[in-house]
Amino acid sequence: MAGVKGMGMHFYRFDSPGRVKLEKISPEPPDGLGKQEAKARFEELNEELFALQDLMWGARTHSVLMVLQGRDAAGKDGAVKHVVGALNPRGVRVTSFGVPNEVERRHDFLWRVHLHAPGTGEIAIFNRSHYEDVLVVRVKKLAPREIWKERFSLINAFEETLVAGNCILLKYFLHIDAEEQEKRLLAREKDPNDAWKLNVEDWKERALWDEFTEAYEDVIGRCASADAPWIVVPANAKWYRNLVIAESVAEAMRPYRKKWRRTLDEQGKLVRKDLRAWRTGASRR
Ligand code: AMP
Ligand code: MG
Repeated sequence: MAGVKGMGMHFYRFDSPGRVKLEKISPEPPDGLGKQEAKARFEELNEELFALQDLMWGARTHSVLMVLQGRDAAGKDGAVKHVVGALNPRGVRVTSFGVPNEVERRHDFLWRVHLHAPGTGEIAIFNRSHYEDVLVVRVKKLAPREIWKERFSLINAFEETLVAGNCILLKYFLHIDAEEQEKRLLAREKDPNDAWKLNVEDWKERALWDEFTEAYEDVIGRCASADAPWIVVPANAKWYRNLVIAESVAEAMRPYRKKWRRTLDEQGKLVRKDLRAWRTGASRR
């Protein structure tokens, strides 16, 4: 379950179903990893990701979907800003999922989500996702138990469908503790640039901290698989959160690099052959 990386990095990758206890996972960055060192590595990874994205875009055989989940102020928007900021916008799609609108409510819970799944070549990022339908819906009792319980297996089947279509799927839980959340919510309230992001619901949901913890533990425990792992990101420090996300997505894409390169080389050869044939034909005329 645990993923231990170089540079003293630690984060937890769940790639099979099982019991999850979030209180056993520290939301703090590991001791011994400095912020400057982490930032330098983050820059390096961004360059690598940019190159990988370019290869994937050209090869058009695979896609990437990053699902971001976490409590209010856990850093979902910050993760989007920092991780996507380094990519080529041509091939990136970010979708935020809020309270379902009237049309969405008249369809099954996956309908609005599937529409935004990435096409081959693309990287899609979900800021919240289909998981809200087993998280907020469960905790705030927006649907009866029989309904949301059935959704774990529906979600697994849906994600298997995406993976079968060559989607590299990663699901992130941005893990902060209650003190960090309080600090961030209060700081937002004071800052005129940030206050608009707040909502009374944030505080109401904070009061349901333990219920959300249980719901997240169930989600991670039931919907983790080798092809669609959950990654618990220690997110009390923003710089470490960004590093873990970049490192894990690079790690997931890296094994395909040679394959994408080969696909592009073969396509290049075919185009060159066509061009040669065309020039030869033209010179004869
Ligand atoms: P935020 O991401 O904080 O801007 O707000 C989005 C809000 O939409 C959050 O409070 C989510 O819990 C809520 N939300 C997202 N998806 C669903 C859903 N399927 N059902 C109910 N509420 C949802
Ligand atoms: Mg909110």
